[in-house]
Amino acid sequence: MQGLMMNRPLKISDIITYAAEAYPSAEIVSVRSEGDIHRTNYLDISKRMAQLAHGLISIGVKPGDRIATLAWNGYRHLELYYAISGIGAVCHTINPRLSSDQLTYIINHAEDLLLFVDLTFVPILEAVKDRLPLEMKIIILTDKKHMPKTSLKTMCYEELLKDKPQKINWPDFNEDTAASLCYTSGTTGEPKGTLYSHRSTVLHAMMLAISLPDALKEGKKILPVVPLFHVNAWGLPYAAPLTGAGLVFPGPKLDGDSLFNLMETEKVYSAWGVPTVWLNLLQTISKKQRPPVGFGDVVIGGASAPRAMIEDFEQLNINVCHAWGMTEMSPVGTQGNIPYKLKDISLQDKLDIKAKHGRRLFGVELKIVNDQGTILAHNGISQGDLYVRGHAITAGYFNNAEATREAFDTDGWFSTGDIATIDCDGFLTIVDRSKDLIKSGGEWISSLDIENIAISHPDIANCTAIAAPHPKWGERPILIVIPTNGITPDKSSIQNLLSKHFAKWQIPDDIIFTEILPLTATGKVSKLTLRNMYKNHFLIKDTK
Ligand code: AMP
Repeated sequence: MQGLMMNRPLKISDIITYAAEAYPSAEIVSVRSEGDIHRTNYLDISKRMAQLAHGLISIGVKPGDRIATLAWNGYRHLELYYAISGIGAVCHTINPRLSSDQLTYIINHAEDLLLFVDLTFVPILEAVKDRLPLEMKIIILTDKKHMPKTSLKTMCYEELLKDKPQKINWPDFNEDTAASLCYTSGTTGEPKGTLYSHRSTVLHAMMLAISLPDALKEGKKILPVVPLFHVNAWGLPYAAPLTGAGLVFPGPKLDGDSLFNLMETEKVYSAWGVPTVWLNLLQTISKKQRPPVGFGDVVIGGASAPRAMIEDFEQLNINVCHAWGMTEMSPVGTQGNIPYKLKDISLQDKLDIKAKHGRRLFGVELKIVNDQGTILAHNGISQGDLYVRGHAITAGYFNNAEATREAFDTDGWFSTGDIATIDCDGFLTIVDRSKDLIKSGGEWISSLDIENIAISHPDIANCTAIAAPHPKWGERPILIVIPTNGITPDKSSIQNLLSKHFAKWQIPDDIIFTEILPLTATGKVSKLTLRNMYKNHFLIKDTK
């Protein structure tokens, strides 16, 4: 027997319509590329979203068209998120840190009809002008006064909105309609597109809202350092309006000092981003000897948060939520808050739990399997390949049958490429990306485990462990280190620290000091680049 309830489609436009009515004055603050600060709220921005939707229709945008964005975190980018999907078109966010080959590949692969670009990124497009689709129009996210001189044929964003009606009846359509498109950064092979639907996006926003109720609520302000141009800024553009939380967008200014000042002036409660960003903020905090006033919560994900970083924040009474996820998962898969039954444990015990990678969100199922495909126990010890299934997880890559075939097991679970354990309290621990594990003499070494301990050394500002091919052992770990304040630490003191936690054969054979670590387009340390740089490290030495 069927239930007898209305079946209204889940639509992204419902979120902003709701926020405009329920939380009209919750603020959205943006640092603009033009250099100033802009303030709006959910009611006013909903009117501009309606204007933009009318503008898009007036220039011929139809349901299903792909409309690209190349922009910082700011209110205009948020307007695009809602107006494009609201009329049934697809908001294709592009990561400006991609190489020019990857950038032009995905624009052509997605067959983008329009591209909205921030002032800062106009030169990126000028440089690849000849490789862009001929018929694609470029619209610059600024007003008439700030329109740049450029060899590109462009239109002005504010002119597109001008005089358009501030109301719209957002159309109804099937909730499985595509809403947005994001390509992986493509560290191996060409980038692959994840095509989110209205249903998956709204459900993911609700999943987040119930999982992180401390930050996502009316009266709190959230700073998404995680970009709108990649992985939907971890779902915040949808979850914040749904819950009445305000948004503070940092625009192009992402260094520690700028973030500190913005957080303090805007009274940001919760800040979300990858570990590399927090290293910079922690340096500013240490310089000023205090955190920004009102800062009480940080969500760290995208790469493993070192235990020492979690400790630094917790010592300042800033709650750390260590989350794990993937572009293909919308992207948040877990949240790392402490279980209620353990709320009174000591700081050290708390850190042990927070250094893990969280418990699954409702709607995300996890399984770990061994090489034979046998499902492993959730006992915190058995480690295997991590697979996921759920309401907001990809069912296949956009126009890429080959990548889709490789990504799923026969039961339809998505292969994350991560190696993990799950304990009996449901906590996931990512041991490593399968490609980053180090295999020495037939035994596996986790690069994440080595990094986690090494970074607690006072003279190490950042570090990464990688495998270098070795004539005898197959691979041996090496540790690449950015020293604190440029002072080269003593190698043996690092080795001594590691020897307290690891067996002799697990300790890196060499420690290399550097000033910078190469980053991927999503701000993570690029182990692939480093593996290439050091692929002859032991081989050459041994043949000398
Ligand atoms: P992306 O799709 O660019 O977000 O990358 C997803 C991958 O990032 C995952 O498969 C993990 O390998 C890694 N990742 C994300 N969050 C974490 C985390 N908290 N700890 C460790 N690795 C993470």
